[in-house]
Amino acid sequence: VTFKDLGLSSDVLKGIEMMGYVSPSPIQEKSIPVLLEGQDIIGQAQTGTGKTLAFGSVLLSKIQKEGKHVKALILSPTRELALQIHEELKRIGKCTNLSIVSVFGGSDIERQIKDLKRGADIVVGTPGRVQDLMRRRVLKINNIDFMVLDEADEMLNMGFVEDIETILKATPDNKQTVLFSATMPATIKKIASNYMQDDYMHIQ
Ligand code: AMP
Repeated sequence: VTFKDLGLSSDVLKGIEMMGYVSPSPIQEKSIPVLLEGQDIIGQAQTGTGKTLAFGSVLLSKIQKEGKHVKALILSPTRELALQIHEELKRIGKCTNLSIVSVFGGSDIERQIKDLKRGADIVVGTPGRVQDLMRRRVLKINNIDFMVLDEADEMLNMGFVEDIETILKATPDNKQTVLFSATMPATIKKIASNYMQDDYMHIQ
């Protein structure tokens, strides 16, 4: 199987080719076609399995540049991971005209506000800073099409359960949700049953 067989957009395929990747990893081969069909998934995968490209290639294929509203929100437990996701999405999306903004604590909020005001199609952020920007009404997520929870078990371990729930409650019901987690504790299953499509697929 090559990336060309999976149904990704030609701009994203060009980006992946420029990155030098030819064959999808197992998690990519399993999750990309399902995600392109619009189904929610829980991907049980560790770092290093290619999970970022699995959801990133789909978001960058499906999102159309129209209007100034945010179309996808990706939540990450740490600023390091948020930055890593941002960098990888920039490479995958090199041939698209989509704008990606990352927001996290410990970094100049005014800069992030400026970036958001200029218009972000995809926002990558940590739960605390995302909520801060929502409260300031600079970040609006009531119209997103995609929600990604990356390293969800790590976010729970770090005490972000309530933050995640507050954020999920501010998103529309008709979005697509992707949740990646290395482990599958009861709290993750509960979040899935409360906030995801009933027929979400568990991929590992
Ligand atoms: P991740 O699991 O998202 O942290 O990805 C781990 C690393 O593998 C990243 O540096 C990716 O750029 C790289 N990678 C992702 N998909 C592939 C692939 N299909 N072939 C080779 N490398 C990949």
